[in-house]
Amino acid sequence: MSWYFGDPCYVIRDDDWMDFCDLLHAADIKDDCPNPVCITWRGVPLEVWSCGGDGCWSFDFNSEGPEHGSSFGVDAGIFCAMPASILDVPLEDITGGRIEAMIFRDEPQCLVEDGVVFLNGTHDDSSMACDICNRWCNAWSMQSCGCGYSFCYNCECRCGW
Ligand SMILES: [Zn+2]
Ligand SMILES: [Zn+2]
Repeated sequence: MSWYFGDPCYVIRDDDWMDFCDLLHAADIKDDCPNPVCITWRGVPLEVWSCGGDGCWSFDFNSEGPEHGSSFGVDAGIFCAMPASILDVPLEDITGGRIEAMIFRDEPQCLVEDGVVFLNGTHDDSSMACDICNRWCNAWSMQSCGCGYSFCYNCECRCGW
């Protein structure tokens, strides 16, 4: 079965979108704003992630990449993996480029950490590795030193520049 990965607002019909949001809201309140929010939609458990807003996240995949696409757009502030069987739009809307999202052969594994989106272990292209601790971090959260190092908020350059 194919899996969609992207913003659920593009693939849920308008008439059902408020129901989807109500589920998210209820789970959010119950579990104190978790990331992901876990809900069940049309009988399928979903992990719904956010990464601080809307935008576009792109990836440079190697072996664990999708069958279609290498980026996803976000308009509703959230994104998740959904089996193709519960989408309200045909897969051609994604493969044809009307919707910016990805299609995977198997369920992709997502993780959001320090403002970085990981999909099947691949970090999104807007992230950078800290030159000191090597962790992947969101590029806009990095500081830089005159010596040329870029480093995360947990680290400090000790070069003496
Ligand atoms: Zn660091
Ligand atoms: Zn330095």
